[in-house]
Amino acid sequence: MAAPREKDKDNTKLMEKIVSLCKRRGFIFQSSEIYGGINGFWDYGPLGAELKRNLRDAWWRAMTREREDVLGLDATIIMHPDIWKASGHVDTFCDMMVDCKKCKGRFRADHVGDIACPEKPSKCVGECDGEKTAPRPFNLMFKTHTGPLETADNVAYLRPETAQAIFAQFKNVLDTSRQKVPFGVCQIGKAFRNEITPKNFTFRSREFEQMELEFFIKPDEAIEAVCGEVAVWSEDADLSIPQDNWGWEMWHRYWVDQRTKFYESIGLGADVLAYYWQTPEDLAHYAKACVDILFKFPFGTDELEGIAARGDFDLSQHQKYSGKPQEFFDEKLKAALADWDEDKQLAFTGAKVAAARAKLDATTSNPTEQDYAECEKATRQWCERFFKGWYVPHVIEPSAGLDRLALAVLCAAYDEQEKTDAKGKVERVEIMRVHARISPIKVGVFPLLKNKPELVTKAREVHQLLKAHMNCFYDETGSIGKRYARQDEAGTPFCLTIDFETLGEADASLKDTVTVRHRDSNNQERMAISDLLPWLLARVQ
Ligand code: ATP
Repeated sequence: MAAPREKDKDNTKLMEKIVSLCKRRGFIFQSSEIYGGINGFWDYGPLGAELKRNLRDAWWRAMTREREDVLGLDATIIMHPDIWKASGHVDTFCDMMVDCKKCKGRFRADHVGDIACPEKPSKCVGECDGEKTAPRPFNLMFKTHTGPLETADNVAYLRPETAQAIFAQFKNVLDTSRQKVPFGVCQIGKAFRNEITPKNFTFRSREFEQMELEFFIKPDEAIEAVCGEVAVWSEDADLSIPQDNWGWEMWHRYWVDQRTKFYESIGLGADVLAYYWQTPEDLAHYAKACVDILFKFPFGTDELEGIAARGDFDLSQHQKYSGKPQEFFDEKLKAALADWDEDKQLAFTGAKVAAARAKLDATTSNPTEQDYAECEKATRQWCERFFKGWYVPHVIEPSAGLDRLALAVLCAAYDEQEKTDAKGKVERVEIMRVHARISPIKVGVFPLLKNKPELVTKAREVHQLLKAHMNCFYDETGSIGKRYARQDEAGTPFCLTIDFETLGEADASLKDTVTVRHRDSNNQERMAISDLLPWLLARVQ
Protein backbone atom coordinates (compact mmCIF):
# COMPACT_ATOMS: atom_id res chain seq x y z
CA MET A 1 0.00 0.00 0.00
CA ALA A 2 1.22 3.51 -0.80
CA ALA A 3 2.55 5.53 2.15
CA PRO A 4 -0.08 8.00 3.47
CA ARG A 5 0.39 11.51 2.17
CA GLU A 6 1.11 14.37 4.62
CA LYS A 7 -2.39 15.75 4.07
CA ASP A 8 -3.95 12.36 4.93
CA LYS A 9 -1.84 12.20 8.08
CA ASP A 10 -2.93 15.72 9.05
CA ASN A 11 -6.56 14.86 8.45
CA THR A 12 -6.27 11.65 10.49
CA LYS A 13 -4.75 13.69 13.31
CA LEU A 14 -7.48 16.30 13.00
CA MET A 15 -10.17 13.61 13.21
CA GLU A 16 -8.45 12.13 16.27
CA LYS A 17 -8.50 15.54 17.94
CA ILE A 18 -12.21 15.98 17.18
CA VAL A 19 -13.05 12.51 18.52
CA SER A 20 -11.00 13.18 21.63
CA LEU A 21 -12.67 16.56 22.28
CA CYS A 22 -16.10 14.97 21.76
CA LYS A 23 -15.35 12.44 24.48
CA ARG A 24 -13.58 14.83 26.86
CA ARG A 25 -16.28 17.50 26.70
CA GLY A 26 -19.28 15.16 26.65
CA PHE A 27 -20.47 15.50 23.07
CA ILE A 28 -20.25 11.82 22.05
CA PHE A 29 -19.38 8.65 23.99
CA GLN A 30 -18.97 5.09 22.82
CA SER A 31 -22.13 3.14 23.61
CA SER A 32 -21.74 0.61 26.48
CA GLU A 33 -18.19 1.82 27.01
CA ILE A 34 -17.81 0.24 30.46
CA TYR A 35 -18.34 -3.16 28.80
CA GLY A 36 -15.83 -2.49 26.05
CA GLY A 37 -18.24 -0.73 23.69
CA ILE A 38 -20.34 -2.10 20.85
CA ASN A 39 -19.28 -1.47 17.28
CA GLY A 40 -21.41 1.00 15.35
CA PHE A 41 -23.35 2.45 18.30
CA TRP A 42 -22.80 5.84 19.91
CA ASP A 43 -24.30 7.81 22.79
CA TYR A 44 -24.61 11.57 22.96
CA GLY A 45 -23.44 13.17 26.20
CA PRO A 46 -24.90 16.36 27.69
CA LEU A 47 -23.47 18.72 25.05
CA GLY A 48 -24.14 16.30 22.17
CA ALA A 49 -27.73 15.77 23.25
CA GLU A 50 -28.33 19.54 23.21
CA LEU A 51 -26.60 19.91 19.84
CA LYS A 52 -28.69 17.14 18.30
CA ARG A 53 -31.88 18.54 19.77
CA ASN A 54 -31.09 21.96 18.30
CA LEU A 55 -30.38 20.44 14.88
CA ARG A 56 -33.58 18.41 15.02
CA ASP A 57 -35.56 21.52 16.01
CA ALA A 58 -33.94 23.65 13.28
CA TRP A 59 -34.79 21.03 10.63
CA TRP A 60 -38.36 20.58 11.89
CA ARG A 61 -38.92 24.34 12.01
CA ALA A 62 -37.55 24.88 8.49
CA MET A 63 -39.32 21.88 6.98
CA THR A 64 -42.76 22.13 8.50
CA ARG A 65 -43.47 24.97 10.98
CA GLU A 66 -42.28 27.72 8.66
CA ARG A 67 -44.18 26.24 5.69
CA GLU A 68 -47.84 25.74 4.97
CA ASP A 69 -47.40 22.77 2.66
CA VAL A 70 -45.53 20.25 4.84
CA LEU A 71 -46.96 18.29 7.79
CA GLY A 72 -45.19 16.19 10.42
CA LEU A 73 -45.51 12.50 11.28
CA ASP A 74 -44.20 10.33 14.13
CA ALA A 75 -44.53 6.65 13.22
CA THR A 76 -43.37 3.42 14.86
CA ILE A 77 -39.99 1.82 14.30
CA ILE A 78 -41.46 -1.65 13.80
CA MET A 79 -44.13 -1.82 11.10
CA HIS A 80 -45.94 -4.54 9.18
CA PRO A 81 -43.25 -6.62 7.45
CA ASP A 82 -45.07 -6.38 4.11
CA ILE A 83 -44.08 -2.71 4.00
CA TRP A 84 -40.48 -3.85 3.50
CA LYS A 85 -41.50 -6.32 0.81
CA ALA A 86 -43.37 -3.60 -1.07
CA SER A 87 -40.52 -1.13 -0.72
CA GLY A 88 -37.99 -3.66 -2.05
CA HIS A 89 -35.93 -3.73 1.15
CA VAL A 90 -36.47 -7.45 1.85
CA ASP A 91 -35.16 -8.40 -1.58
CA THR A 92 -32.63 -5.75 -2.40
CA PHE A 93 -31.50 -3.71 0.61
CA CYS A 94 -28.10 -5.34 0.52
CA ASP A 95 -24.45 -4.43 0.46
CA MET A 96 -21.93 -6.76 -1.15
CA MET A 97 -19.80 -8.43 1.52
CA VAL A 98 -16.48 -10.28 1.36
CA ASP A 99 -14.77 -12.49 3.95
CA CYS A 100 -11.02 -12.54 4.49
CA LYS A 101 -9.78 -16.12 4.40
CA LYS A 102 -6.78 -15.23 6.57
CA CYS A 103 -8.05 -12.96 9.37
CA LYS A 104 -11.72 -14.04 9.07
CA GLY A 105 -12.72 -10.36 8.96
CA ARG A 106 -15.81 -9.26 7.02
CA PHE A 107 -15.73 -6.21 4.82
CA ARG A 108 -17.99 -4.25 2.52
CA ALA A 109 -16.77 -5.16 -0.96
CA ASP A 110 -16.64 -1.56 -2.16
CA HIS A 111 -14.46 -0.66 0.83
CA VAL A 112 -11.84 -3.29 -0.07
CA GLY A 113 -9.55 -2.16 -2.87
CA ASP A 114 -10.46 -3.51 -6.31
CA ILE A 115 -12.66 -6.36 -5.08
CA ALA A 116 -15.56 -5.24 -7.25
CA CYS A 117 -14.91 -8.02 -9.76
CA PRO A 118 -16.51 -11.22 -8.36
CA GLU A 119 -14.38 -13.50 -10.55
CA LYS A 120 -11.17 -12.10 -9.20
CA PRO A 121 -10.92 -12.14 -5.40
CA SER A 122 -8.54 -9.38 -4.37
CA LYS A 123 -5.74 -9.31 -1.86
CA CYS A 124 -5.83 -5.55 -1.56
CA VAL A 125 -7.02 -4.38 1.86
CA GLY A 126 -5.50 -2.08 4.46
CA GLU A 127 -5.44 -4.24 7.59
CA CYS A 128 -4.83 -7.68 6.26
CA ASP A 129 -3.33 -8.99 3.02
CA GLY A 130 -5.34 -12.24 3.13
CA GLU A 131 -7.22 -13.48 0.11
CA LYS A 132 -10.87 -12.40 0.02
CA THR A 133 -13.89 -14.44 -1.00
CA ALA A 134 -16.04 -13.38 -3.94
CA PRO A 135 -18.59 -10.71 -2.92
CA ARG A 136 -22.07 -11.85 -1.86
CA PRO A 137 -25.14 -9.85 -0.87
CA PHE A 138 -25.83 -9.13 2.80
CA ASN A 139 -29.21 -7.70 3.83
CA LEU A 140 -28.72 -4.73 6.14
CA MET A 141 -32.07 -4.92 7.96
CA PHE A 142 -32.11 -5.93 11.63
CA LYS A 143 -34.59 -8.76 12.10
CA THR A 144 -36.67 -9.43 15.18
CA HIS A 145 -39.93 -11.21 16.09
CA THR A 146 -43.18 -9.80 17.42
CA GLY A 147 -44.92 -11.80 20.15
CA PRO A 148 -43.59 -14.74 22.14
CA LEU A 149 -42.92 -17.13 19.26
CA GLU A 150 -39.83 -16.86 17.11
CA THR A 151 -41.35 -18.25 13.92
CA ALA A 152 -41.16 -17.20 10.29
CA ASP A 153 -44.73 -15.88 10.59
CA ASN A 154 -43.89 -13.18 13.08
CA VAL A 155 -40.63 -11.87 11.69
CA ALA A 156 -40.43 -8.09 11.86
CA TYR A 157 -37.74 -5.56 11.01
CA LEU A 158 -36.34 -2.50 12.71
CA ARG A 159 -36.91 0.16 10.07
CA PRO A 160 -33.85 0.87 7.93
CA GLU A 161 -35.30 4.28 6.97
CA THR A 162 -38.12 6.51 8.17
CA ALA A 163 -39.48 7.19 4.67
CA GLN A 164 -41.65 4.09 4.27
CA ALA A 165 -43.88 5.04 7.21
CA ILE A 166 -44.67 8.28 5.41
CA PHE A 167 -45.74 6.40 2.29
CA ALA A 168 -47.76 3.92 4.33
CA GLN A 169 -49.61 6.79 6.05
CA PHE A 170 -49.95 8.97 2.94
CA LYS A 171 -53.69 8.36 2.59
CA ASN A 172 -54.43 8.97 6.26
CA VAL A 173 -52.58 12.27 6.23
CA LEU A 174 -54.24 13.31 2.97
CA ASP A 175 -57.71 12.42 4.24
CA THR A 176 -57.32 14.09 7.64
CA SER A 177 -55.58 17.29 6.58
CA ARG A 178 -56.75 19.99 4.21
CA GLN A 179 -53.78 19.53 1.89
CA LYS A 180 -53.84 19.03 -1.83
CA VAL A 181 -50.97 17.84 -4.01
CA PRO A 182 -48.34 19.36 -4.01
CA PHE A 183 -47.69 18.92 -0.29
CA GLY A 184 -45.24 17.05 1.90
CA VAL A 185 -45.01 14.89 5.00
CA CYS A 186 -41.85 14.80 7.07
CA GLN A 187 -40.51 12.73 9.89
CA ILE A 188 -37.50 12.56 12.19
CA GLY A 189 -36.66 9.28 13.86
CA LYS A 190 -34.38 6.35 14.47
CA ALA A 191 -33.29 4.04 11.67
CA PHE A 192 -31.24 0.85 11.93
CA ARG A 193 -28.86 -0.74 9.45
CA ASN A 194 -26.64 -3.68 10.19
CA GLU A 195 -23.73 -2.02 8.41
CA ILE A 196 -20.97 -4.51 7.57
CA THR A 197 -18.22 -2.11 8.54
CA PRO A 198 -19.32 0.82 10.70
CA LYS A 199 -16.59 3.45 10.51
CA ASN A 200 -15.43 7.03 10.64
CA PHE A 201 -16.75 7.71 14.14
CA THR A 202 -20.53 8.26 13.94
CA PHE A 203 -20.56 8.67 10.14
CA ARG A 204 -21.56 5.08 9.49
CA SER A 205 -23.41 3.73 12.52
CA ARG A 206 -25.80 0.83 12.97
CA GLU A 207 -28.36 2.92 14.84
CA PHE A 208 -28.86 6.48 13.70
CA GLU A 209 -31.48 9.15 13.17
CA GLN A 210 -32.88 10.32 9.86
CA MET A 211 -34.74 13.48 8.91
CA GLU A 212 -36.81 12.78 5.83
CA LEU A 213 -39.36 14.61 3.74
CA GLU A 214 -41.59 13.04 1.12
CA PHE A 215 -42.87 15.90 -1.00
CA PHE A 216 -45.77 14.71 -3.16
CA ILE A 217 -46.14 16.38 -6.54
CA LYS A 218 -48.34 16.07 -9.60
CA PRO A 219 -47.06 13.98 -12.50
CA ASP A 220 -45.73 16.11 -15.37
CA GLU A 221 -48.63 14.89 -17.52
CA ALA A 222 -51.08 16.60 -15.14
CA ILE A 223 -49.07 19.86 -15.15
CA GLU A 224 -49.02 19.87 -18.94
CA ALA A 225 -52.76 19.17 -19.17
CA VAL A 226 -53.64 21.93 -16.69
CA CYS A 227 -51.02 24.59 -17.51
CA GLY A 228 -50.31 23.77 -21.16
CA GLU A 229 -46.58 23.43 -20.40
CA VAL A 230 -44.08 22.15 -17.86
CA ALA A 231 -41.46 24.68 -16.69
CA VAL A 232 -37.94 23.84 -17.81
CA TRP A 233 -35.05 24.36 -15.42
CA SER A 234 -32.16 26.64 -16.41
CA GLU A 235 -29.22 28.12 -14.48
CA ASP A 236 -31.05 31.42 -13.96
CA ALA A 237 -34.42 29.89 -13.02
CA ASP A 238 -36.10 31.58 -10.03
CA LEU A 239 -36.50 28.88 -7.40
CA SER A 240 -37.73 31.11 -4.60
CA ILE A 241 -41.50 30.66 -4.96
CA PRO A 242 -43.06 27.42 -6.26
CA GLN A 243 -45.16 27.85 -9.39
CA ASP A 244 -48.18 25.94 -10.73
CA ASN A 245 -46.28 24.89 -13.87
CA TRP A 246 -43.45 23.18 -11.98
CA GLY A 247 -42.89 19.53 -12.86
CA TRP A 248 -40.56 17.11 -11.07
CA GLU A 249 -37.40 18.79 -12.36
CA MET A 250 -38.16 22.24 -10.93
CA TRP A 251 -39.40 20.76 -7.66
CA HIS A 252 -36.22 18.71 -7.39
CA ARG A 253 -34.05 21.77 -8.00
CA TYR A 254 -36.19 23.74 -5.57
CA TRP A 255 -35.55 21.23 -2.77
CA VAL A 256 -31.81 21.15 -3.47
CA ASP A 257 -31.88 24.94 -3.13
CA GLN A 258 -34.00 24.88 0.05
CA ARG A 259 -31.75 22.31 1.70
CA THR A 260 -28.64 24.28 0.74
CA LYS A 261 -30.17 27.37 2.35
CA PHE A 262 -30.90 25.32 5.47
CA TYR A 263 -27.26 24.24 5.74
CA GLU A 264 -26.15 27.85 5.27
CA SER A 265 -28.51 28.93 8.08
CA ILE A 266 -26.66 26.70 10.55
CA GLY A 267 -23.19 27.69 9.40
CA LEU A 268 -22.41 25.07 6.72
CA GLY A 269 -21.74 27.15 3.62
CA ALA A 270 -20.42 26.53 0.14
CA ASP A 271 -16.84 26.16 1.44
CA VAL A 272 -17.64 22.88 3.23
CA LEU A 273 -20.35 21.42 0.98
CA ALA A 274 -20.19 19.70 -2.41
CA TYR A 275 -22.76 18.09 -4.71
CA TYR A 276 -22.72 14.80 -6.53
CA TRP A 277 -25.32 14.43 -9.30
CA GLN A 278 -25.89 10.74 -9.83
CA THR A 279 -25.29 9.55 -13.38
CA PRO A 280 -27.93 7.49 -15.24
CA GLU A 281 -25.87 4.38 -14.34
CA ASP A 282 -25.99 5.26 -10.61
CA LEU A 283 -29.74 5.87 -10.55
CA ALA A 284 -32.33 3.34 -9.38
CA HIS A 285 -34.54 2.27 -12.32
CA TYR A 286 -37.53 4.30 -11.04
CA ALA A 287 -35.56 7.45 -10.11
CA LYS A 288 -35.48 10.44 -12.44
CA ALA A 289 -32.63 12.24 -10.67
CA CYS A 290 -30.72 12.15 -7.41
CA VAL A 291 -28.20 14.54 -5.97
CA ASP A 292 -26.11 13.86 -2.91
CA ILE A 293 -25.20 16.86 -0.76
CA LEU A 294 -21.71 16.07 0.49
CA PHE A 295 -19.70 17.46 3.36
CA LYS A 296 -15.92 17.80 3.40
CA PHE A 297 -15.15 15.60 6.42
CA PRO A 298 -11.49 15.25 7.47
CA PHE A 299 -11.66 11.60 6.34
CA GLY A 300 -13.02 12.54 2.91
CA THR A 301 -15.90 14.26 1.17
CA ASP A 302 -18.99 12.14 1.78
CA GLU A 303 -22.78 12.11 1.82
CA LEU A 304 -24.79 14.19 4.26
CA GLU A 305 -28.10 14.03 2.46
CA GLY A 306 -29.60 12.57 -0.70
CA ILE A 307 -32.33 14.38 -2.64
CA ALA A 308 -34.08 12.06 -5.06
CA ALA A 309 -36.88 12.43 -7.59
CA ARG A 310 -38.44 8.98 -7.16
CA GLY A 311 -41.38 9.19 -9.57
CA ASP A 312 -44.49 7.36 -8.31
CA PHE A 313 -42.57 4.20 -7.44
CA ASP A 314 -43.14 4.13 -3.68
CA LEU A 315 -46.86 4.84 -3.51
CA SER A 316 -47.50 2.57 -6.52
CA GLN A 317 -45.69 -0.29 -4.79
CA HIS A 318 -47.79 0.16 -1.65
CA GLN A 319 -50.94 0.36 -3.78
CA LYS A 320 -49.96 -2.91 -5.43
CA TYR A 321 -48.98 -4.80 -2.27
CA SER A 322 -51.72 -3.50 0.06
CA GLY A 323 -54.48 -3.46 -2.54
CA LYS A 324 -55.50 -0.01 -1.18
CA PRO A 325 -55.65 2.88 -3.66
CA GLN A 326 -52.99 5.53 -3.06
CA GLU A 327 -54.38 7.97 -5.60
CA PHE A 328 -55.20 11.66 -5.37
CA PHE A 329 -58.22 13.18 -7.09
CA ASP A 330 -57.20 16.37 -8.88
CA GLU A 331 -60.20 18.60 -9.59
CA LYS A 332 -58.17 20.93 -11.79
CA LEU A 333 -56.98 18.01 -13.90
CA LYS A 334 -60.51 16.67 -14.27
CA ALA A 335 -61.67 20.13 -15.43
CA ALA A 336 -58.74 20.52 -17.83
CA LEU A 337 -59.43 17.14 -19.44
CA ALA A 338 -63.19 17.71 -19.79
CA ASP A 339 -62.83 18.85 -23.42
CA TRP A 340 -60.49 16.00 -24.50
CA ASP A 341 -62.39 13.99 -27.13
CA GLU A 342 -61.87 10.29 -27.79
CA ASP A 343 -59.24 10.90 -30.49
CA LYS A 344 -57.13 12.99 -28.18
CA GLN A 345 -57.39 10.38 -25.43
CA LEU A 346 -56.42 7.62 -27.88
CA ALA A 347 -53.41 9.54 -29.15
CA PHE A 348 -52.30 10.28 -25.58
CA THR A 349 -52.69 6.62 -24.55
CA GLY A 350 -50.81 5.42 -27.65
CA ALA A 351 -47.89 7.71 -26.92
CA LYS A 352 -47.82 6.57 -23.27
CA VAL A 353 -47.81 2.89 -24.23
CA ALA A 354 -44.97 3.44 -26.72
CA ALA A 355 -42.93 5.30 -24.07
CA ALA A 356 -43.57 2.57 -21.47
CA ARG A 357 -42.43 -0.16 -23.89
CA ALA A 358 -39.27 1.82 -24.70
CA LYS A 359 -38.54 2.16 -20.98
CA LEU A 360 -39.04 -1.56 -20.49
CA ASP A 361 -36.54 -2.23 -23.28
CA ALA A 362 -34.05 0.14 -21.70
CA THR A 363 -34.35 -1.20 -18.13
CA THR A 364 -34.99 -4.95 -18.56
CA SER A 365 -32.77 -7.45 -20.29
CA ASN A 366 -34.76 -9.55 -22.77
CA PRO A 367 -38.33 -8.61 -21.82
CA THR A 368 -40.86 -11.37 -22.58
CA GLU A 369 -44.20 -11.00 -24.40
CA GLN A 370 -45.84 -11.23 -21.00
CA ASP A 371 -43.69 -8.33 -19.72
CA TYR A 372 -44.82 -6.21 -22.68
CA ALA A 373 -48.46 -7.21 -22.14
CA GLU A 374 -48.36 -6.34 -18.43
CA CYS A 375 -46.60 -3.06 -19.15
CA GLU A 376 -49.23 -2.10 -21.73
CA LYS A 377 -52.11 -3.10 -19.45
CA ALA A 378 -50.76 -1.05 -16.55
CA THR A 379 -50.21 1.97 -18.80
CA ARG A 380 -53.74 1.79 -20.23
CA GLN A 381 -55.18 1.53 -16.70
CA TRP A 382 -53.10 4.53 -15.64
CA CYS A 383 -54.46 6.54 -18.61
CA GLU A 384 -58.07 5.62 -17.80
CA ARG A 385 -57.70 6.82 -14.19
CA PHE A 386 -55.85 9.93 -15.39
CA PHE A 387 -58.68 10.92 -17.75
CA LYS A 388 -61.00 10.84 -14.71
CA GLY A 389 -58.66 13.11 -12.70
CA TRP A 390 -56.94 10.44 -10.56
CA TYR A 391 -53.25 9.68 -10.24
CA VAL A 392 -50.67 8.32 -7.82
CA PRO A 393 -48.56 11.35 -6.80
CA HIS A 394 -44.88 11.50 -7.61
CA VAL A 395 -42.36 12.29 -4.92
CA ILE A 396 -39.25 14.34 -4.24
CA GLU A 397 -37.36 12.97 -1.23
CA PRO A 398 -34.78 15.01 0.68
CA SER A 399 -33.32 12.46 3.11
CA ALA A 400 -30.73 13.58 5.66
CA GLY A 401 -28.92 11.89 8.53
CA LEU A 402 -29.06 13.73 11.86
CA ASP A 403 -25.96 12.05 13.26
CA ARG A 404 -23.98 12.79 10.10
CA LEU A 405 -25.14 16.38 10.33
CA ALA A 406 -24.05 16.61 13.98
CA LEU A 407 -20.66 15.18 12.98
CA ALA A 408 -20.38 17.64 10.08
CA VAL A 409 -21.19 20.54 12.41
CA LEU A 410 -18.55 19.38 14.91
CA CYS A 411 -15.93 18.98 12.17
CA ALA A 412 -16.72 22.37 10.64
CA ALA A 413 -16.66 24.03 14.07
CA TYR A 414 -13.34 22.63 15.26
CA ASP A 415 -10.55 25.18 15.48
CA GLU A 416 -7.32 25.34 17.43
CA GLN A 417 -5.12 28.27 18.35
CA GLU A 418 -1.97 28.95 20.24
CA LYS A 419 -2.32 31.35 23.15
CA THR A 420 0.32 32.91 25.34
CA ASP A 421 -0.68 33.30 28.96
CA ALA A 422 0.35 36.11 31.33
CA LYS A 423 3.54 34.22 32.25
CA GLY A 424 4.55 33.86 28.59
CA LYS A 425 3.65 30.17 28.42
CA VAL A 426 2.29 29.12 25.03
CA GLU A 427 -0.59 26.66 25.06
CA ARG A 428 -2.84 25.12 22.44
CA VAL A 429 -6.53 25.89 22.88
CA GLU A 430 -9.47 24.32 21.10
CA ILE A 431 -12.47 26.38 20.03
CA MET A 432 -15.71 24.94 18.69
CA ARG A 433 -17.11 27.63 16.39
CA VAL A 434 -20.64 26.22 16.33
CA HIS A 435 -23.30 28.52 14.85
CA ALA A 436 -25.21 30.29 17.66
CA ARG A 437 -28.54 28.84 16.43
CA ILE A 438 -27.44 25.29 17.16
CA SER A 439 -24.77 25.62 19.84
CA PRO A 440 -25.52 23.38 22.86
CA ILE A 441 -25.08 26.24 25.33
CA LYS A 442 -26.07 29.70 24.19
CA VAL A 443 -24.53 31.79 26.91
CA GLY A 444 -22.20 31.41 29.90
CA VAL A 445 -22.94 33.56 32.96
CA PHE A 446 -20.04 34.32 35.32
CA PRO A 447 -19.68 36.40 38.47
CA LEU A 448 -16.18 37.89 38.34
CA LEU A 449 -15.42 36.53 41.84
CA LYS A 450 -17.22 33.76 43.64
CA ASN A 451 -16.49 35.11 47.12
CA LYS A 452 -18.32 38.41 46.57
CA PRO A 453 -21.97 37.76 47.44
CA GLU A 454 -23.19 40.91 45.59
CA LEU A 455 -21.60 39.66 42.34
CA VAL A 456 -22.91 36.11 42.82
CA THR A 457 -26.45 37.34 43.57
CA LYS A 458 -26.48 39.56 40.51
CA ALA A 459 -25.06 36.78 38.29
CA ARG A 460 -27.69 34.37 39.60
CA GLU A 461 -30.38 36.95 38.73
CA VAL A 462 -29.07 37.25 35.16
CA HIS A 463 -28.88 33.45 34.86
CA GLN A 464 -32.46 33.15 36.12
CA LEU A 465 -33.64 35.80 33.63
CA LEU A 466 -32.12 34.00 30.65
CA LYS A 467 -32.48 30.32 31.46
CA ALA A 468 -36.22 30.28 30.86
CA HIS A 469 -35.50 31.17 27.23
CA MET A 470 -32.29 29.36 26.31
CA ASN A 471 -29.69 26.92 27.58
CA CYS A 472 -27.37 28.96 29.86
CA PHE A 473 -24.43 27.78 31.90
CA TYR A 474 -23.59 29.33 35.25
CA ASP A 475 -19.93 29.06 36.22
CA GLU A 476 -18.12 30.69 39.11
CA THR A 477 -14.96 28.60 39.41
CA GLY A 478 -11.50 29.44 38.08
CA SER A 479 -10.21 32.58 36.42
CA ILE A 480 -12.39 34.33 33.85
CA GLY A 481 -9.90 33.24 31.16
CA LYS A 482 -10.32 29.57 32.16
CA ARG A 483 -14.10 29.93 32.16
CA TYR A 484 -14.02 31.45 28.66
CA ALA A 485 -11.78 28.60 27.50
CA ARG A 486 -14.19 25.98 28.89
CA GLN A 487 -17.08 27.59 27.01
CA ASP A 488 -14.98 27.88 23.82
CA GLU A 489 -14.52 24.12 23.85
CA ALA A 490 -18.24 23.63 24.38
CA GLY A 491 -19.04 25.91 21.42
CA THR A 492 -20.78 28.63 23.50
CA PRO A 493 -21.00 31.78 21.37
CA PHE A 494 -21.41 34.35 24.17
CA CYS A 495 -20.27 34.75 27.77
CA LEU A 496 -21.45 37.38 30.26
CA THR A 497 -19.36 38.58 33.16
CA ILE A 498 -20.93 40.32 36.13
CA ASP A 499 -18.23 42.56 37.60
CA PHE A 500 -17.90 45.52 39.94
CA GLU A 501 -19.07 47.88 37.23
CA THR A 502 -22.34 45.94 37.14
CA LEU A 503 -22.81 47.00 40.76
CA GLY A 504 -22.22 50.65 39.72
CA GLU A 505 -19.53 51.08 42.37
CA ALA A 506 -17.02 53.14 40.37
CA ASP A 507 -19.25 54.59 37.66
CA ALA A 508 -22.99 54.85 38.27
CA SER A 509 -23.68 55.00 34.54
CA LEU A 510 -22.47 51.38 34.20
CA LYS A 511 -24.80 50.02 36.90
CA ASP A 512 -26.71 46.97 35.70
CA THR A 513 -24.53 46.45 32.66
CA VAL A 514 -22.43 43.34 32.00
CA THR A 515 -19.45 42.43 29.82
CA VAL A 516 -20.50 40.43 26.78
CA ARG A 517 -17.63 38.39 25.35
CA HIS A 518 -17.89 37.06 21.79
CA ARG A 519 -16.32 33.64 21.22
CA ASP A 520 -15.35 34.13 17.57
CA SER A 521 -13.85 37.63 17.65
CA ASN A 522 -12.79 37.54 21.30
CA ASN A 523 -14.24 41.09 21.45
CA GLN A 524 -15.95 42.40 24.55
CA GLU A 525 -18.68 45.00 24.88
CA ARG A 526 -20.86 46.32 27.68
CA MET A 527 -24.55 45.82 27.54
CA ALA A 528 -27.46 46.71 29.82
CA ILE A 529 -28.99 43.65 31.51
CA SER A 530 -32.39 44.84 30.27
CA ASP A 531 -31.17 44.58 26.64
CA LEU A 532 -29.67 41.10 26.97
CA LEU A 533 -32.67 38.91 26.35
CA PRO A 534 -33.85 40.39 23.01
CA TRP A 535 -30.23 40.76 21.85
CA LEU A 536 -29.47 37.11 22.57
CA LEU A 537 -32.77 35.78 21.23
CA ALA A 538 -32.15 37.51 17.90
CA ARG A 539 -28.89 35.56 17.60
CA VAL A 540 -29.59 32.14 19.05
CA GLN A 541 -33.02 31.30 17.67
P1 ATP B 1 -24.44 5.44 2.27
O1 ATP B 1 -24.24 5.38 0.78
O2 ATP B 1 -23.49 6.36 2.97
O3 ATP B 1 -24.55 4.08 2.92
P2 ATP B 1 -27.17 5.80 1.65
O4 ATP B 1 -27.08 6.48 0.33
O5 ATP B 1 -27.51 4.36 1.75
O6 ATP B 1 -25.85 6.11 2.51
P3 ATP B 1 -29.71 6.81 2.32
O7 ATP B 1 -30.37 5.49 2.32
O8 ATP B 1 -29.95 7.74 1.18
O9 ATP B 1 -28.15 6.62 2.55
O10 ATP B 1 -30.05 7.52 3.70
C1 ATP B 1 -30.26 8.90 3.81
C2 ATP B 1 -29.31 9.52 4.81
O11 ATP B 1 -29.30 8.78 6.04
C3 ATP B 1 -27.86 9.54 4.36
O12 ATP B 1 -27.60 10.64 3.53
C4 ATP B 1 -27.13 9.65 5.68
O13 ATP B 1 -27.07 11.00 6.13
C5 ATP B 1 -28.01 8.87 6.63
N1 ATP B 1 -27.45 7.53 6.83
C6 ATP B 1 -27.61 6.45 6.04
N2 ATP B 1 -26.94 5.40 6.53
C7 ATP B 1 -26.34 5.83 7.68
C8 ATP B 1 -25.51 5.21 8.66
N3 ATP B 1 -25.20 3.92 8.57
N4 ATP B 1 -25.08 5.94 9.71
C9 ATP B 1 -25.42 7.25 9.82
N5 ATP B 1 -26.20 7.89 8.93
C10 ATP B 1 -26.66 7.20 7.87
